[in-house]
Amino acid sequence: MNDTLSAFAQGKIEALAARSLMRALNPTHRLDGVWVERAGRRLVSFSCNDYLGLTHHPQVKAAAKAAIDAYGAGSGASRLVTGDSPPIAALEKRLARFKGAEAACVFGSGYLANTGVIPTFVGPGDLVLVDELSHACIWAGAKLSGAEVARFRHNDMADLAATLAERRARAGHALVATDGVFSMDGDIAPLDQISRLCVAHDAWLLVDDAHGLGVVAGGAGSTALFPEARVDLAMGTLSKSLGGYGAYVCATQPAVDLMKARARTLVYSTALPPANAAAALAALDVIEGDPERVAAPLAHARRFTAALDLPQAQSPIVPIILGEAETALAAAAELETAGLLVVPIRPPTVPPGTARLRIAFSAGHTAEQVDRLIEAAQPWVDQ
Ligand SMILES: *Cc1c(COP(=O)(O)O)cnc(C)c1O
Repeated sequence: MNDTLSAFAQGKIEALAARSLMRALNPTHRLDGVWVERAGRRLVSFSCNDYLGLTHHPQVKAAAKAAIDAYGAGSGASRLVTGDSPPIAALEKRLARFKGAEAACVFGSGYLANTGVIPTFVGPGDLVLVDELSHACIWAGAKLSGAEVARFRHNDMADLAATLAERRARAGHALVATDGVFSMDGDIAPLDQISRLCVAHDAWLLVDDAHGLGVVAGGAGSTALFPEARVDLAMGTLSKSLGGYGAYVCATQPAVDLMKARARTLVYSTALPPANAAAALAALDVIEGDPERVAAPLAHARRFTAALDLPQAQSPIVPIILGEAETALAAAAELETAGLLVVPIRPPTVPPGTARLRIAFSAGHTAEQVDRLIEAAQPWVDQ
């Protein structure tokens, strides 16, 4: 037993708790795409990123089981050693076709993709510009690269232009990185304008479409909303609308070849299990064959924002920003009493003073469930 270590942990915990920022795990049995069981209680979840209910889709589950039988439960090694299983190669081909790219590289997770790919293309002497509300793993990848890292104000093109004008000239390469659909706000990056600035300033563009794939632009993702934009690195995950685990980056063939040779999170991490790749392939089949399912989450979100007079939803994610962490905790507790699970989001996941309810709509929700949420959320929107 190490007493200074426990004392350190205890001190940190108490400091977090004093600010209502302590977090702990909540064992959750997801019964299907929408219903969850927590501490023996059944709740309707509006906090899963399983936008299309594919975590529990019979075709997706069957594909995963069949792949386990054919290839085993794990991948056995990193991809460059013996872990490059047939389903991964098939998935890369499929993703490249789906995204209209030359090639794709599959990673173990979204966090691994961004922390691997950014340092593959930029390093010391280079510049990375990041939208301030981008996902934590973009920041982690940018920091890890050793490049100069600068933030620009959220979706603020004047600020991005000014930052590029000020800093681009003295850098070697430059990379602009942004979420396509912002994970905690649900709004969409103006990729056409960002791309124009990148072209004008000789910068590459990385778009993280974890929350766009499968749910916006008929499932094609946020980049498809801006066909004229040049997106050099189109990253997305298999873990949100696809209902599984893993991630990918689409790019040109040489860029993908370099990732496979050099991205440290690919080279030094065990390959995605074959079953996860097979499940993602089956999920893409569902997405391409079931447009009604793909349209449903955004339709629910728009009915919700219309009913509550909120800005029209651009994705299945709708935030109700409440300010202080205590308020978000109180709101979530009240909704839970009504049988609705909306996990409160607090700093550091969101900036200080913007604690919120983050609502994620799913194709599996019924109109009646959305109505119940509208009624229960109303007082918190009005307060
Ligand atoms: C969830 C998420 C990630 C991380 O993906 P994982 O596969 O869960 O590691 C990356 N970027 C964004 C925007 C995300 O929402």
